[in-house]
Amino acid sequence: MDKLILIVEDDPKNLTLFRDLLQRVGYTTIEAENGREGVNLARANKPALILMDIQLPVMDGLKATKILKSDAKTKNIPILALTSYAMKGDRDKILQAGCDGYLAKPVDVREFLATVARYLPNKVKKGVKIGGK
Ligand code: MN
Repeated sequence: MDKLILIVEDDPKNLTLFRDLLQRVGYTTIEAENGREGVNLARANKPALILMDIQLPVMDGLKATKILKSDAKTKNIPILALTSYAMKGDRDKILQAGCDGYLAKPVDVREFLATVARYLPNKVKKGVKIGGK
C-alpha cells in the first residue's frame, strides 16, 4: 500500500515518536513490537517501507530482515534499520542481513524524515510533505 510504513520497535517512547513524526507528514503506520510480528505484518500488508529496530524480543531485527529479504513476496520492500548500535562491525552486520540502510538512534527529526523519504520507492514520494511547515 502506498504511503504505508511498518514500524518494528519495542521501545514505547521510540514507537510513539516515530509514529507521530510519520503521521504528521502524511504517512500511514502499522506497528509491531517484535521481529516475528513484524515479519507477519509485512507479509500481510506489503508496506512501502519498513523501519526496523535491531534489538527486539522474540526475534531480533537482523533475523526478521533476513527472513523478509529471502522471501520473494517481501524482498523488494526497503528496510531501514533504526539502531542504537554505533560500532562499525554492527553496521556491517546490519547491511549483511539485508537492510537497505540504517539510522542511528536517538534520531534527529529532520534527518529521520529525510532518510525515510530517501528510502521510499519513488512512486510513494509524490504527495507526501517532508519537513512540516
Ligand atoms: Mn529495541
